[in-house]
Amino acid sequence: MLDINKIREEFPILGTKVYGKPLVYLDNAATMQKPRVVVEAEREQYYTNNANVHRGVHYLSQQATEMQENARVKVRNFLNAASEQEIIFTRGTTEGINLVATAFGSLLKEGDEIIVSEMEHHSNIVPWQLLQQRQGVVLKVVPFDDNGELDLQKYAEMFTERTRLVSIVHVSNVLGTVNPVKDIVSVAHGHGVPVLIDAAQSVPHFKVDVRDIDCDFLVFSGHKVYAPTGIGVLYGKRELLDKMPPYQGGGEMISTVSFEHTEYETIPYKFEAGTPNYVGANALGIALDFVENIGLDKIHNYELQLANYATEQLSRIDGLRIFGRAAQKDAVVSFLVDGIHHLDMGTLLDRLGIAVRTGHHCAQPIMTHYNVDGMVRASFAVYNTEQEIDFFVAAVKRVIQMF
Ligand code: PMP
Repeated sequence: MLDINKIREEFPILGTKVYGKPLVYLDNAATMQKPRVVVEAEREQYYTNNANVHRGVHYLSQQATEMQENARVKVRNFLNAASEQEIIFTRGTTEGINLVATAFGSLLKEGDEIIVSEMEHHSNIVPWQLLQQRQGVVLKVVPFDDNGELDLQKYAEMFTERTRLVSIVHVSNVLGTVNPVKDIVSVAHGHGVPVLIDAAQSVPHFKVDVRDIDCDFLVFSGHKVYAPTGIGVLYGKRELLDKMPPYQGGGEMISTVSFEHTEYETIPYKFEAGTPNYVGANALGIALDFVENIGLDKIHNYELQLANYATEQLSRIDGLRIFGRAAQKDAVVSFLVDGIHHLDMGTLLDRLGIAVRTGHHCAQPIMTHYNVDGMVRASFAVYNTEQEIDFFVAAVKRVIQMF
């Protein structure tokens, strides 16, 4: 059994009042709150261990470098990657996908095909459209049904001899669908095609093992897994990363530079130009320790229990429609109430102390699928409680009565 009250004490922000009401924070899919250990780790590093990494022989620089590299090992273990060289620190999911779209993308030719799905976040659509404009690649889109499940039959039929990459979300940030990524990878590998997994909404909630999935790239954001903003991870298989040209040029990513010729560093540094967010990387390592100390399986079971409870309670409300009914679904509930605009619902819930996300959730093709312009989304983390869900559901009912 998890001691949720004890866990909540680690998150000072949860004691905040908004408009005099206790905060009920249900916008965890957008960003998670940070435990004391993470905030303290950043503060502590600036107070005691701050120096630029990799460049200095001096004591502080060596320490800061060691802290960053320890964090890389923690990420490697967390994802079960084969080597820490396959772990590249980025700004987040978005930068990870842009890195692959730019560097791997530069190896593609006009007419080469990339498969994405209809339920992607914009960050797994727009970088490929930019590549389309630069290099004339073709984007193919796997549709989903009204329950929010991908059409895997259509997916399997999309491969041609020009298919070069599949880039698919693990868990939809709107529908909560957990896509069968192992099967998706196995079909792609059957055609010799590598797969990128957008794990922004899976890594924070359940065990993601890159060698078990056998994906070729995987990206996630630190801030969605209790870590600070501005740090994230791209995992890539060594043989692919080695073949890819650098993403950005600058310091840290070279071994020698002259005006005639520049040699690049080996991976992962080849992809980490400039002073990295070493303080954020260390704090990410601390956040992953925090998660592992509680236990990812326990976190996942608890979050699913919350999501099921919220789904049950919301389903009883007349005129309320839940989007995303996949058999495998994670801790996200998106909904609309007949006759009430999502923005009005979100604004009024906010006045009652409830923080939910409203709008298109950076996934407009999903909105187009359901012919709506936005939804209200509640998403859960380990520090949420059934009592908070009761407040939330009561608040939704109160808003409905206002119309
Ligand atoms: N993919 C998914 C599925 C997401 O939920 C998000 C964040 N909402 C992103 C990508 C983008 O993450 P970030 O803004 O941290 O780069």
